[in-house]
Amino acid sequence: MFKASLQRHARLGHAVARRQISALSSTRGLRFQTLAQHTGRLSQSTGTQSISLRCLSQRLYSQSAAAAQTYDDAGPASTPRLITKFADLDKLGVHPRLVEAITHGMKYEDMTDVQSKTINAALNGVDLVAQAKTGTGKTLAFLIPVLQRLLAAEPDLVDKYKRRSARCNDVKAILMSPTRELAEQIGVEARKLVANTGIVVQTAVGGTRKREALFKMQREGCHILVATPGRLKDILTDSYAGVAAPNLKAFVLDEADRMLDVGFADDIQEILSFLPKIEDVDRQTLLFSATIPRDVVHLAKSLVKTDNFEFVQTIDQNEAPTHERIPQNLVICHGYENYFPTILELADKARKLHDSDPEKPPFKAIVFFSNTATVQFANEVIRSTPLADRRSGIPVYDIHSKLTQPQRTKSAEAFRRAKEGILISSDVTARGMDFPGVTHVIQIGLPPDRDQYIHRLGRTGRAGRSGEGWLLLANEEVDEARRRLPGLPIKPNKTVGVAQVAVTHGTEAQGEAGKYISDVSKAYEEVPKSMFRQTYHALLGQKFGRGFRAEDVISLLNRWCQQGMGWDEVPAISPNSARNRGLTRVRGIRIGHDPVEEEESSFRGSGGFGGRFGSRDGGFGGGSGGDRRGGGGFGGDRRGGGGFGGDRRGGGGFGGDRRNSGGFGSRSFDNSFSRGGGGGDRGRPRGFEGKFSGRVDRPDGGRRGQGRSSASF
Ligand code: ADP
Ligand code: MG
Repeated sequence: MFKASLQRHARLGHAVARRQISALSSTRGLRFQTLAQHTGRLSQSTGTQSISLRCLSQRLYSQSAAAAQTYDDAGPASTPRLITKFADLDKLGVHPRLVEAITHGMKYEDMTDVQSKTINAALNGVDLVAQAKTGTGKTLAFLIPVLQRLLAAEPDLVDKYKRRSARCNDVKAILMSPTRELAEQIGVEARKLVANTGIVVQTAVGGTRKREALFKMQREGCHILVATPGRLKDILTDSYAGVAAPNLKAFVLDEADRMLDVGFADDIQEILSFLPKIEDVDRQTLLFSATIPRDVVHLAKSLVKTDNFEFVQTIDQNEAPTHERIPQNLVICHGYENYFPTILELADKARKLHDSDPEKPPFKAIVFFSNTATVQFANEVIRSTPLADRRSGIPVYDIHSKLTQPQRTKSAEAFRRAKEGILISSDVTARGMDFPGVTHVIQIGLPPDRDQYIHRLGRTGRAGRSGEGWLLLANEEVDEARRRLPGLPIKPNKTVGVAQVAVTHGTEAQGEAGKYISDVSKAYEEVPKSMFRQTYHALLGQKFGRGFRAEDVISLLNRWCQQGMGWDEVPAISPNSARNRGLTRVRGIRIGHDPVEEEESSFRGSGGFGGRFGSRDGGFGGGSGGDRRGGGGFGGDRRGGGGFGGDRRGGGGFGGDRRNSGGFGSRSFDNSFSRGGGGGDRGRPRGFEGKFSGRVDRPDGGRRGQGRSSASF
């Protein structure tokens, strides 16, 4: 019934969208026009039932009117319609100071589709599950109603001096995010909105000194708390902290699917146990994400009031849930040794394009790797190439879970401000991060799963801007990628010359390509050998699949090691590790021991490939990192941090997970609310033409959803 209701709301939502488009397209802002056109395309592709439109708009109107009555003397809007301009929010009773912060402070005029649909509804207090593409302004969509409802309940808070009486034992809203960086980002946005009010916003994230942060909260008080789950749990369970939320009015999960994912679900449950029961203290729950997999539906259901909620979806049912505006290129590389030279060539070309045509934006790229060790290695290598030259190059930043939190924040801030540059990152920045002006998202190697690919890609092309997606795969990875990434408009791109050059150590390749290869070869010499060893182990711990087995990875790694790096001997795998992971008979593996000091971080701990075991807060790195239920899969632990092994949905890697033992290649289902019951259409991804017959395993290990699908790569 819950699902049926979701679907009904999804249908209604599309009807309303059409209506908004006429209002939106009259806007003069160029940037927003692109967004409006985009949403226009979406809406046209679905049929509209006038009755649904009338019902929904009437309902929303009555909500709007009710909201207006509680606050605004001006009375309700005279015509029943959805508000699409921020300036008109006062008609819904939104306080002028909030409206001003948006229209003057942030200088936004028109709402995006998801903002219009959710703000209008949420102001009246309904619970929401909202799914909208990356970069469509979901943050403001949940902040505005939360803040306004707080002001409506406590009108005193409008005055700035009220900050002085704020306390930390009466938190009114809790906003949760899976990563520290995203929590900080939401905090910044929220503070902009409340700048001229008495509302106090605090952030509580892992990795920072807990005592100091607590002291600040105790000193300044807190109305709105933006937090990562681990740290919030810490604070709530610490009886000396004095932080409590006995009158909680709002509970928001940004990146809701990730928050309800196995790595965080226990924490969320525990956090909820410290909050008042909804029966005793009514609160609004808002769940927002760009992807909402089928298997989190029941968890979502346990959080929202099923008799008083809306499902808002601005992703068209018939559309692949990613930015179709963003060209997505696949560069097939000869081997792993071609990855770094390919990055250099891409960067060089984009920079030359900008130099010759100032209309083209400066090159600002995020390069994603799926594990921390490779991020560290890549960072060192790229920094040692001419691309990072102080005079003629561009700045290189890195973010991963092995950095301290102040280092992570510093990198994120510097990259945010940078006009051009490269951020080499693990999946800690894959979700939600809003770095302005990112022109390229470059994903290296097999992404852990389809959702993660989409979230990473969503770091570019935000708020109607343009951008490019690049996926670099070795020949041997392409089959597996077709399985993991169905239904996406990824097109092979053969313009990168160095990608297919067979690198032979000691032999100089010719021309431009030769230069990139030799730049990288020289850079390898600057980097400690242990870093490559750790990368070797981390990549060996990655999630495999039907089309991508241990032999393939070993052969790719060994070629990189011998031909790319010029090593005679490949890194060793200890006999125990090899046995535990069933690698003893794999061709090309070297069983033995490397010097101890160089090996240490790769092998320690249970499931310890992939190397990194940061706090769960920062975690999420690697996105998959074998999970705690996985019975010793490689790669990270449930605290995330860049492990690479099987994930709960994929069950790949070694050890798999208990729900999914042995089932390779299954994946989550984004957009699943709208897709209705069967997995049938999931196996027939759209946007592929011809070629391969894809099979999509379901999380339950079944094989529904078979169908002919076509890969564009
Ligand atoms: P999402 O959470 O959907 O990925 P964000 O909330 O991070 O998106 O917003 C993406 C970018 O769009 C941010 O830079 C934000 O400030 C900007 N933005 C938000 N709302 C609007 C709007 N109505 N018009 C223009 N830009 C907006
Ligand atoms: Mg977001």
